[in-house]
Amino acid sequence: MTATMLQGLVADLGRLELREVPVPEPGPGELVARVDLAMTCGTDLKTFRRGHPKFPLPTPLGHEFTGTVARVGAGVGRFREGDPILAVPSAPCGECPSCLRGLENLCDRIHAGNLAWGAFAEFIRIPAHVVRRNVFPRPPDLDLTHAALLEPLSCVVHGIEVLDLARRDTVLVLGAGPIGLLYVALLKRRGVPRVVVLGKRATRLAAARALGADEVLDLDASSDPLASIRALAPEGVCAAVECVGRTEAWQLAEASLRKGGEVLFYGGCPGGSSISLDTRRVHYDALTLKGAFHFTPSDVRIALDLIRRRALPLDRVVSGEYPLARLGEAFETLQGGECLKLAIRPKATDGASA
Ligand SMILES: [Zn+2]
Ligand SMILES: [Zn+2]
Repeated sequence: MTATMLQGLVADLGRLELREVPVPEPGPGELVARVDLAMTCGTDLKTFRRGHPKFPLPTPLGHEFTGTVARVGAGVGRFREGDPILAVPSAPCGECPSCLRGLENLCDRIHAGNLAWGAFAEFIRIPAHVVRRNVFPRPPDLDLTHAALLEPLSCVVHGIEVLDLARRDTVLVLGAGPIGLLYVALLKRRGVPRVVVLGKRATRLAAARALGADEVLDLDASSDPLASIRALAPEGVCAAVECVGRTEAWQLAEASLRKGGEVLFYGGCPGGSSISLDTRRVHYDALTLKGAFHFTPSDVRIALDLIRRRALPLDRVVSGEYPLARLGEAFETLQGGECLKLAIRPKATDGASA
């Protein structure tokens, strides 16, 4: 008889289901891990609300997790049953045109079929190329919350590597969700003298302050956010990082720059979105416009080192915990917009709460 497990998936737009499915079997080079803790992510919420071109419905959800090796596929030498691990869901193939140009974050072969995907479940299968490059032993005393944040921290490390932080004395972060907050923490750690955050909701803005933001602009209290930014930085900011994923925020990020400024567009807007640019300003003010997506194995190692050294107060980006059996409630809370990341624990514990 095949063993079964509970798995959360998006059955239809806006509809989550917990289904009884077979526990995955590891193929050659693969691992199957028991999920100890998973985290919700903006990508999960987007897929739930409006679908995702890479993940046709019904699709399992969840890709930020830490676990314990439960089954080891043939030929895996680095891990044994019972080993606690940290992992990210993907790894570059090393052979496609993008990988061969050194753009491993843009690997052409990263697709739904070869990811460790579906962490809102009791077990998860980790493909062989991910096992080879992006799975690591978890130190026994590492907090599960920190360990489960390896993937989002890797993404933010990548964005910081893309930014040119030399002589950037004032950096604006647009958005005080979990990703904006991770940017705040890393920008301060990299020594940026003044980090200004523009965001909504008192709990999020309080977290931004706790993570080191020097100034916080409350969008709920401002009818003219550009004027609020100019009041703090009359010539504009040296750099802006957009972490909202809305065209208004993309536009505002560009408008907030001083001469010679740089913007990092990080938040993904709905498909088909576009913004307009004042070409004179881009040219005569010599603006730099950049995008950043995903991460490379080298970014993952930087993030891993930060996590292992407990260099950042990462628990500030997590605002609650739910057992897997209450995944639906967790998504209702996410939709409310008051919370940050939510931890999902497959094995219910007495202390589980929101
Ligand atoms: Zn994520
Ligand atoms: Zn590739």
